[in-house]
Amino acid sequence: MCGIVAYVGTREAYPIILKGLKRLEYRGYDSSGVALLSNELSVYKKKGKVAELEESLVGKDLHANIGIGHTRWATHGEPSDRNAHPHLSPSGKLAMIHNGIIENYGQLKSELLKKGYRFHSDTDTEVLLSFIDDIREHNDCSLEEAIRIALKRVVGAYVIVILDRDNPNTLIAARKGSPLVIGIGKGEHFLASDASPIIEYTKEVVYINDYELAIIRPDELILKNLGNETITPYIQKLDMELAAIEKGGYDHFMLKEIFEQPHTIFDCLRGRLELSEGKIHMRGVEEHMEQLKQAKRIIIVACGTSWHAGLVAEYVFEELCRIPVEVEYASEFRYRNPVIHPGDVIIAISQSGETADTLVAIEKAKEQGALIFGVLNVVGSSIARASHAGAYTHAGPEIGVASTKAFTAQLAVLTMMALKLAMEKGTIDAKRYQHLMTELSDIPEKVQTILQNTDNIRMIAEKYADARDFLYLGRGYNFPVALEGALKLKEISYIHAEGYPAAEMKHGPIALVDDQLPVVFIATKDAYHDKIISNMQEIKARKGRVIAVITEGDTVITDMADDVMTVPAADEIVAPLLSVIPMQLLAYYIGVHKGLDVDKPRNLAKSVTVE
Ligand code: GLU
Repeated sequence: MCGIVAYVGTREAYPIILKGLKRLEYRGYDSSGVALLSNELSVYKKKGKVAELEESLVGKDLHANIGIGHTRWATHGEPSDRNAHPHLSPSGKLAMIHNGIIENYGQLKSELLKKGYRFHSDTDTEVLLSFIDDIREHNDCSLEEAIRIALKRVVGAYVIVILDRDNPNTLIAARKGSPLVIGIGKGEHFLASDASPIIEYTKEVVYINDYELAIIRPDELILKNLGNETITPYIQKLDMELAAIEKGGYDHFMLKEIFEQPHTIFDCLRGRLELSEGKIHMRGVEEHMEQLKQAKRIIIVACGTSWHAGLVAEYVFEELCRIPVEVEYASEFRYRNPVIHPGDVIIAISQSGETADTLVAIEKAKEQGALIFGVLNVVGSSIARASHAGAYTHAGPEIGVASTKAFTAQLAVLTMMALKLAMEKGTIDAKRYQHLMTELSDIPEKVQTILQNTDNIRMIAEKYADARDFLYLGRGYNFPVALEGALKLKEISYIHAEGYPAAEMKHGPIALVDDQLPVVFIATKDAYHDKIISNMQEIKARKGRVIAVITEGDTVITDMADDVMTVPAADEIVAPLLSVIPMQLLAYYIGVHKGLDVDKPRNLAKSVTVE
């Protein structure tokens, strides 16, 4: 959360920073701001989206070749101009941007208050900056040294970037827990929370690690640890194209990403699922096959949509591999003192690979001897680096805050992984293995079929857009899809929605049913089809309005439901990859119909780098 951008070089810094902030806005949009240094240090900040900052700066002289910028997702202090970053130090010499949380800011603040410091914002960020300023003044040391001393006392997560009026061509950055990428140009450097603001200028990047400090000048990048030892930067080549982070003619990133799914799922399967050979190639799995085969238990840790992918995987791994699976919310798991045995396998699922809770959860499990396997979208992310092995989802940058294509790619990776493991363990027969491989390889084309005609889903969305609540019900493999459908609707349309196992609804939620309540059934043809039809009858008997996601040709439900959305037939193990698509579109069209900003839903942000 929070996007940071900085530039030092020979170009105009402001346009580069502004463009970068727009690319990072998915990370937070409570306020934004820039600090630019030419003859003097100027700070401009504004509550709201980056466009509002841009508008407020029209006509201003913004010339500078060095600057920092920030788009905020507020943790400490309401979204407002005064809480917006960059913050200025008491001396007025330093400007700082920060992504993360300084957990012991209260303690530091009271120490500083006693010394007579006064604060102009409610943020933890301003406290850290004043703390650094104070150390510099009292120890008569360099800024770099003051930052090092300060960070040794800091508890929490951060990326900070500081601009110093007295050092007009130097930026100093440091990280722990939040991401920072530095792009290396010719006589210039670009800093950002992810690579998207950088790729149009250079493909050479350095990912900064925890407890590293970077001193960045136009021609120089010095990396040090907090002990002041120099580290050789590891330069990597970015494997990303500019087109991947632009809307490409779609109204919203979310719609573009929904429509990209035939390609992203295909990309995810490509080179791994070899139908002709009857083999699945996954290096991360192969290298740890013995440990995976011996696993007594798989624990999946994730948050949000990734947690729903984990729930589907629970059904798939248990069915195919006969290994018990537990699916944990990373935030609960990490604080629960969980029982982990050396033979356990942890699968961490995260789109960004930066999810703070998931990162800490796996570090804890690693200490206790578990094998950590990451299922991640962002290459080189913190969780990727903290895992023993993994498989990337190759979905490409996901900009829409509500996850869509990352979810289906996660399902594709997890299903391949389970299939491969099942084959190695001998818990699946050759015929079923081959059948499921074929089913999986057919998914991209079937998703394309769903996307060919979305008018029906749009009409259903408009019909129900005024509902106050929604209930989503599914059984078996489609139960997590019900949860995901409800989550998408909440995120995008701000309509209260709940997902439940269809049979469980009798134990409570059925009390909500009346002639106003739309109930979405994920009811594709599977082993539970007759059961879910009975659940549908129970809702109809209470005058609920039934919307159903069904398999093409299902006349029984078509006759019974108020509205249906069809998906092609598929084996139940891969069915969620199809049934979730109408759920994404339903939420999207309801959000658009209500005139909401579906790419940047209120209060949310992507890449949750705070607890
Ligand atoms: N804690 C800082 C603030 O509230 C930064 C927030 C973040 O990185 O999400 O301003």
